Amino acid sequence: PPHIEEAKRARLAEVFGFDRFRPGQQEVVDSILAGVPTLAVMPTGAGKSLCYQLPALVKGGLSIVVSPLIALMDDQVNALKLQGVAAEAIHSGKPREENVAIWRRVAAGEVRLLYLAPERLLTERMLAALSRFSLGLVAVDEAHCISQWGHSFRNEYLGLGRLREMFPGLPLVAMTATADKATRDDIVERLFGGQARVFVSGFDRPNIFIAVEDKKDPARQIESYVRARPGMAGIIYRISRKKVDETAERLSAAGIRALPYHAGMSPEARAANQETFLAEDGVVMVATVAFGMGIDKSDVRYVLHADAPGTLESYYQEIGRAGRDGQPAEALLLYSAGDIATRRRFLDEEPSPPERKMVEARRLDAMVGFCEAVTCRRAVLLGYFGERAKACGACDVCRDPPKVIDASADAQLVLRL
Ligand code: ADP
Ligand code: MG
Ligand code: ZN
Repeated sequence: PPHIEEAKRARLAEVFGFDRFRPGQQEVVDSILAGVPTLAVMPTGAGKSLCYQLPALVKGGLSIVVSPLIALMDDQVNALKLQGVAAEAIHSGKPREENVAIWRRVAAGEVRLLYLAPERLLTERMLAALSRFSLGLVAVDEAHCISQWGHSFRNEYLGLGRLREMFPGLPLVAMTATADKATRDDIVERLFGGQARVFVSGFDRPNIFIAVEDKKDPARQIESYVRARPGMAGIIYRISRKKVDETAERLSAAGIRALPYHAGMSPEARAANQETFLAEDGVVMVATVAFGMGIDKSDVRYVLHADAPGTLESYYQEIGRAGRDGQPAEALLLYSAGDIATRRRFLDEEPSPPERKMVEARRLDAMVGFCEAVTCRRAVLLGYFGERAKACGACDVCRDPPKVIDASADAQLVLRL
């Protein structure tokens, strides 16, 4: 209906000060406003909060946001308050009197968005109290916490499936940045009882050129790659501490400013190297996966995986540290079937439950599929995250398409002999 359309745009500009939606946001907002159970998968920083905050404000009344961490709740509530939205959080980090005062305001109908931890929402008292409101929606943020395949499974999230029965017909919405299919299916099953519209979007980083090369002589390949990019900041990922040290030493011996980073170093040495990488230009960081969480350096020009990561989630996250400034950047992976075999062996030896192993094995298969792709590599990568993409023109396969072997021509040649 046109009046909802208008209310939506007006709120986007008035409350959030944005003149347009980011990729993926509008579809999600529309789906929620249409009352469809909705799961939105978007990378960190894509703007997931707005996807449920805006519909909540358009619908009016009280809406509930479930969030796993006090810090996340406080951040969002503070940001909303600055924008003049009546948002509040009730949580264990506040004195009781403050929580009581907030509840009074909620009961008086003065609050639009109420942030709660799942364990608090799911108390009988809270559910009974909320059943007297006509709620706008319930949004579950960081919804991967409900999945045992997610990295941060939380028991309290499991109970959220109850909300469907407690509030039939209530728009239920879930947000996450963890995108792989196992986790997604799990969220849809546990939270929505199998029925939800799933949106996946915004995963492309078009300024990163993606390539895979056969790993032949890694030490030499790494050195010539780095030499060909003098003065550029880069990250080289290696699978083990030993390989990190070897690679950093070899590059240093070649006169390149390369620093190691791994969990076997003292916290001081690690912090010092990270600081140097962030503060100085053109430093090469040689690291295990221990490096990178929350690193915000905008001018990293390349990420070189000298050993294949175990999942495309890790790969995607790691290459995403390149080119944050939007300028051209590169991601190269050195691929060897032997590395994958080693990972499979580790997986076999892991003392984890068989279902878990199966999921991990499938993730590794997807990694191999990406490395051996004969069609656009970016399309394969984005396809894994559920995003459809056309041939990108900015990957090695698009640049040099594999020669199509014409079997019939071959056969003719043979027959003529
Ligand atoms: P996520 O939860 O997906 O990691 P957030 O919801 O925290 O991301 O949003 C990240 C940032 O993007 C915030 O600073 C937010 O204000 C901004 N943002 C969200 N939507 C838009 C938009 N349509 N236009 C401009 N900035 C936006
Ligand atoms: Mg968020
Ligand atoms: Zn491509």
